[in-house]
Amino acid sequence: MTATNEKITNSDNDTIACICGNTADSSGFYAYNSGNEVEPTLEDWDGESMFCAACLRVFRQSTGTVIDHPRSIRMLDGVVINRDD
Ligand SMILES: [Zn+2]
Repeated sequence: MTATNEKITNSDNDTIACICGNTADSSGFYAYNSGNEVEPTLEDWDGESMFCAACLRVFRQSTGTVIDHPRSIRMLDGVVINRDD
């Protein structure tokens, strides 16, 4: 885990905006678990960890606190997306 002071803006439940400029209407945000996109189910997901599909910052949905920033994430369809930076 990479601890940072970064925060994702979450002004209300429908409006999430990442530090990188991504929004739900752009690249979007997905449920995250251990380097993978997961279905947002009780079995696969903790109900909190989301990631930005544009920059791969991982954050807690309820607080917007960035909790990790992995180099790559495997999507549900098996495609691995990598950070640009
Ligand atoms: Zn982002």
